[in-house]
Formats: sequence, structure tokens, C-alpha cells
Amino acid sequence: MQPRHLRATSIELSASMTKKHHGHRGGGGRAVHAGKAVLHEDVKAHDTNEDDSWVESAFASRYTGLALPKDQFPPKAMPANVAYQLIKDMRQLDSNPRLNLASFVTTWMEPEAIKLITESLDVNYVDMEQYPSSTDIQNRVVAILANLYHGEVKDGIGTGTATIGSSEAIMLAGLAMKKAWVERRKKAGKPYDKPNLIMGYNVQVCWEKFTRYFDVEEKFVPMEEDCFVLTPEKAIALVDENTIGICAILGSTYTGEFEDVKGLDREVEKLNKETGWEVPIHVDAASGGFVAPFVFPDLEWDFRLKNVVSINVSGHKYGLVYPGIGWVLWKNEKYLPESIVFHVNYLGSDQPTMTLNFSRGASMIIAQYYQFLRLGFDGYKKIMSNLLMVSRRLRMGIEETGHFNILSDDEHSLPLVAFSLKKETTSDSGKKHGRTFNEFDIADKLKMRGWVLPAYHMAPNAKNVMLLRAVVREDLSMSMVDELIKDIGRAIDWLDHHYTFTDTELDSFVSRLHVKKEARIPSSSMTNEEDPDNPKMNGVC
Ligand SMILES: *Cc1c(COP(=O)(O)O)cnc(C)c1O
Repeated sequence: MQPRHLRATSIELSASMTKKHHGHRGGGGRAVHAGKAVLHEDVKAHDTNEDDSWVESAFASRYTGLALPKDQFPPKAMPANVAYQLIKDMRQLDSNPRLNLASFVTTWMEPEAIKLITESLDVNYVDMEQYPSSTDIQNRVVAILANLYHGEVKDGIGTGTATIGSSEAIMLAGLAMKKAWVERRKKAGKPYDKPNLIMGYNVQVCWEKFTRYFDVEEKFVPMEEDCFVLTPEKAIALVDENTIGICAILGSTYTGEFEDVKGLDREVEKLNKETGWEVPIHVDAASGGFVAPFVFPDLEWDFRLKNVVSINVSGHKYGLVYPGIGWVLWKNEKYLPESIVFHVNYLGSDQPTMTLNFSRGASMIIAQYYQFLRLGFDGYKKIMSNLLMVSRRLRMGIEETGHFNILSDDEHSLPLVAFSLKKETTSDSGKKHGRTFNEFDIADKLKMRGWVLPAYHMAPNAKNVMLLRAVVREDLSMSMVDELIKDIGRAIDWLDHHYTFTDTELDSFVSRLHVKKEARIPSSSMTNEEDPDNPKMNGVC
């Protein structure tokens, strides 16, 4: 915290500087842009050293001495190199994306992919007549994915669309289920004002957005301290005639675990037969949709299952494309209600569209096709196998420290490791057991080295479980993982030596402070804990 008088001084300083420069005739930025065609007076101003914007170096310009505009349009322009540098500097304190193990989202692409992306930054995808190749590419990716997920492809066309991410894809799939349910209810002459959707508490926040934005009641399958996913039995128990669908997750964001879609399908089939309902399943395969088909080809979770009607997948997660691309697929046209489809003219033929956005960039759609072309099925398979290998190595390393319970599944799951502190061990065996730090403190300590691993509370009903999660992406090599394992060990050692106390130590410490022990020792010593009432946090995505 800056002392008051200092702050006042710096404000005065910058105010007086601003005044002085605004009072100036104002050649500044313009003089630089105008290049050789500068007026004579401006040259004189430069000579008298009043206008230093002529200096080529960004840091020699007067702009670096001014506060950047925060809430008002800056009245004047500034040179491009200075604006670039100042904004680049603002970003310096951000984490290094490559070390951000909190996120599934792609942080590395090949230079050729980046070239294609840059070369199509000026293409608005929605102008299909003008940029037909983008539409063509989108349709190819949709068809390739429809085939990959065993959906229907007619004359090379699958049912689905590119979206900005899985969130938009889920809004669309959710709307399709809602509309289809309304149509069924209307036909049967039954009320259609209380739609509900069934999902586990472990859903990503976009599902709650969907239900709130589109007025659908949320029915949650609770988690338990030893079960962090939706199970078929618990889901079925919540279904009623107003259920528009059930969401199953292929790759829970919390633990990477795949939910039992096949078991769910079996139970849904039984229920639908008994009741005459047509309850569908949507699979949220945001992460798993680009993992399972390549490394667990026999796992049945997709359109092979009778009641799975739609699937979303994030192209910007294990689809290996930079952020801004997702996909939604329907088993076939039958499950995409005509009422959410608009038709546009595309080179004289019909192109259905059903996105929430109108304009959008074409770059990431093109980049997705690049990855398919470049890597092929075999390439994706190799990358996904590597990821599983690297995540197993990380899992072993974390287990070997002896301090953690592993919460992620090793069999069928995403390449990530979710782990929580054992309650009883410390690295200093002489001390027993006033460990006053938790998972959040470990995350903090690792952050000092640059690693971003989120610590969070498990979803409701299992909120007492705190965990850390490291997501393994294509660009996390085995040797980086070895560094991470060492750093986790170092973090624990350091914390154990600074924040673990024997009872005697605690007592003497507390009595020295003349305060009650209960009041003095917080559950977390360096708290940056998330609000346990709000399990959704930005780090989990
Ligand atoms: C990431 C994720 C989402 C949201 O996807 P975006 O592509 O970020 O919009 C939804 N569901 C699950 C399971 C996810 O992992």
C-alpha cells in the first residue's frame, strides 16, 4: 500500500504533465504518422525538445510517463510502437500460458497453423457467399466429427455446426432438447411450462447458464465424498415427464473421470419403454470428445448408444486449436428441431445455420481443419497416448511424494491428475501433526515458480474435499513434468517446515500471542481460498 502523501504527489505530477502536453499544439502522434510531410513548425517544436514523441524508442517517449486511460477515450492518438509496448507491458504480470495447468485450452500450435490463422483474421465466417471455402471447411469438419462419433452423414453432410466453444454448443443442444420436449408435450395436449434438465453437480458452469438463460429447472445429482460423478441410478431417480434430457459428461472438469454413458443409456432405454417418454441424453464431451475416440475406441459413449442425441466438443481443448472454437453434433436431423434452424443462401444452395452469434472469425474453423489434415487419426492418437503417458508419470511422481491421495481415475479418463493432501503425513517425521496449510497454500507456493495449478473445493455434497488439479496438454513434456514433481516436493517441504507445528509448539505460540488458540489458527495459513459456497471458479475450465 502506497503512503497517502506519495499517492497524492504522483497524481499531481501526472495531472500537471497531462496539462502541459494537452496545452501543446499537439503534433505528437500525428507528426510521427505524417513522416516526412511534417510541417516546419513541428520540426521547430522538436528542436526545442518540447515534443519528445519524435524519439523512436517507446521508453523515451512522453507517453510512458503518463497514466494510461482507464475510463475515458484518450483525446489524442499515440505512435503505434508506443501503444504496442504499453499494452504488452500491461500483460507482463500474467501467467505463462504454457505453465497454466489449470486449463484444458490449447496453448501451442505449429507455425503453419498460426500462419493460416493470421492469414484469415480478416474473414467474417458468416459471409458465406463471399468466403465459400470457410463454409466448405466447416461442413467438412462437421462431417468428419459426425463420422468419428458414429452419427449419420448423408451425402457428405453431418448435422451440426461450429460454435465459439462448448458453451455455445451446449446452449444450442439444450435448446434443441427443450424445443423437442415442448413439441412432444404440445402434441400430447399436456402442459409444457415446467421443463427440467438432469445433470451432476460436477457440471461446468455453462450448464447452469443454459438452465437460467433459457428457463429450465435444474435437477442436480449430488456428489458424495467418494463419488464425484453422475451415476445412472441416481440420474434416473430424478427423471419425470418434464425432463427435457440428461447431461452426461465425458471428462468431468473436476477429476477428468468419464461418466458411465453406456450404463445411463441402458437405464434410460428401460425407463422410456416403461413410461412412453422419450428422454434423450446429451454428452458433454468438451474435453473427452477428442480423447476417447483415439485412445479408447471401444468405449461406447457416442451416437452408437440409442438415446444419445447430441454431443458437444471443444475444438480449443484436445481438438488442439487456439481458443474460439467448439462443435455441436446431433445424431441426425431428426433431433435438431426445425424451429432453431435458419436457412441462408450459400452459392445458390441451402446452408442451414443455428448459431447464437452472427459474425465470427473463420480462423479457428480453418485451424481445426488444418489439425485434422496435418495430424490425421494416427497423429491425434499418438498425441493423446503421449498425454496419457505423461499424466501417468505425473500421477506416479505425485503419489511417490507420499503426501497426496489421487482422486482422478487412471483407467478411462482425461489426461490430468487431481490430488488432495493426505491428512496425516508431513515431510518432517519428527513433527506430529499441526499442519496448518492446505491445498490452496500449495497452489500459492507453486505459483511462485510460475506453475498454475488450481486448488478448489469439490462440488456440493463433497465440498469438504479440497483438491489440486494438473491438466496435461500437448505442450507439457515429460521433462517439464519431472520439474513439476520436484517443485511440488519442494513446496511441501517448505510448507511443512514453516506451517507444521507440534501441539506443544502450537500451545506456546498461542500463549505468547495471548489469544485463544481457536481464534488464532486459521484453517489455511495463507488464505486465498475460494468461496466454498460457490464451487465454480475461473480456474476450472
Ligand atoms: C470446458 C468445458 C465446458 C465449457 O467449454 P468452453 O469451450 O470453454 O465453452 C463445458 N463442459 C465441460 C465438461 C468442459 O470441460
